[in-house]
Amino acid sequence: KERNGHEPEFLQAVEEVAETVIPYIVQHDIYYGKNILLRMVEPERLISFRISWVDDSGEIQVNRGYRVQMNSAIGPYKGGLRFHPTVNASILKFLAFEQVFKNSLTTLPMGGGKGGSDFDPKGKSDNEIMRFCHAFMSELFRYIGPNTDVPAGDIGVGTREIGFLFGMYKKLRNEFTGVLTGKGMSWGGSLIRPEATGYGTVYFAQKMLGTGGDSFEGKKVVVSGSGNVAQYAAEKVLQLGGKVLTLSDSSGYIYDEEGINKEKLAFVMELKNVKRGRISEYLKTHPNAKFIKGKTPWEVACDVALPCATQNELNEEDANTLLSNGCICVSEGANMPSTKEAIAAFHKAKILFAPGKASNAGGVATSGLEMTQNSLRFKWSREEVDNKLKDIMSDIHKSCLEYGKDDDGYVDYVRGANIAGFVKVADAMLAQGVV
Ligand code: NDP
Repeated sequence: KERNGHEPEFLQAVEEVAETVIPYIVQHDIYYGKNILLRMVEPERLISFRISWVDDSGEIQVNRGYRVQMNSAIGPYKGGLRFHPTVNASILKFLAFEQVFKNSLTTLPMGGGKGGSDFDPKGKSDNEIMRFCHAFMSELFRYIGPNTDVPAGDIGVGTREIGFLFGMYKKLRNEFTGVLTGKGMSWGGSLIRPEATGYGTVYFAQKMLGTGGDSFEGKKVVVSGSGNVAQYAAEKVLQLGGKVLTLSDSSGYIYDEEGINKEKLAFVMELKNVKRGRISEYLKTHPNAKFIKGKTPWEVACDVALPCATQNELNEEDANTLLSNGCICVSEGANMPSTKEAIAAFHKAKILFAPGKASNAGGVATSGLEMTQNSLRFKWSREEVDNKLKDIMSDIHKSCLEYGKDDDGYVDYVRGANIAGFVKVADAMLAQGVV
């Protein structure tokens, strides 16, 4: 706390892990007295750099870029890049810390990292995005590589941005390697990678519901966000027979009582991915829906809630509203969308609750599969990747049960994910000595 007191998001993420992992360390001699958690909270490296670029009006702009290389005990650093005006060291350290545990849970050999910039992509032209990405990579390329650090997308960084970043890396290094994941299908990308985080979040929820013999069939589902994760979470819910009632962006949420079906979701995908419009524009073609400005969708009655937008978007009050409306399952698609108090409310009510580091791990897991395919210079089919994704989500669920089951049978997925993620990384760090 003394060292990181000015970094609230990072402290929040560390505290949540410490609360569950410290009691475990105390009970296990091999971890006790080795300052293992103290070592884990300190990034192996935090790089900050200047990005100067020229906008369409000829003006020189300056942004700040970062890469947090958090932990490489079990594999090369791996984690996304975020372009958003709120990006700072605290947010990236929280994301990188979570990533270490998440990547460990996937069963694949990946360390944890995260990066990005305070650059705001909203309202920028394609050429401005390209110039910014090229400027960003002209510095970042020094610190990454297919065996060192393999960045991917996150908020504000999709296939378009990964393309521009990859183009500049390839030019500077004069090599075609799997240094970034989330690539386009014709130049090294993996099938199912765009869908993986959203699909995985729903596969995980399906596993949780299955513990009580339940399923998505006929369930009312509230989704926040309308970006990559939200879109594919919604798609999978529909495929499994659920009804999607909401989607949102930073301006508010849309509520479609009749349900956002396949055709309506295709409209949203076009609106968000191609036209780069606002979610409120949904009402232009679907006038029966409502747009609720400046609010999050947690006030809509549902069985399942999937927070897929951003950190701290669901607070204690929202959690209580969800509970009083009968919500039985929350599966986080975003990273740390629920506040600590919200999670406590879910646990107290003993509903099914999955933290992002378990339920949204399908994205990075499929990135791991993309790395494997790049190394093999091979491409697996949609079915092969989707089946591997399902297996990985099922294994993560199993690990959570192993470490998270209470005496009364309730599963604390937060404790389960934290301890399962911790054990693998800690064992590797201990084996490698004090480095
Ligand atoms: P996108 O940029 O594709 O979409 C983000 C969505 O969240 C948009 O609808 C955006 O609205 C909304 N949003 C962003 N910031 C805020 C905010 N401050 N308040 C309200 N809404 C906001 O990102 P992704 O879908 O890729 O990521 C969403 C979440 O999932 C993030 O937490 C990310 O870290 C996490 N995640 C993503 C993975 C991936 O594979 N993409 C993997 C694992 C986790 P607007 O357009 O108005 O900004």
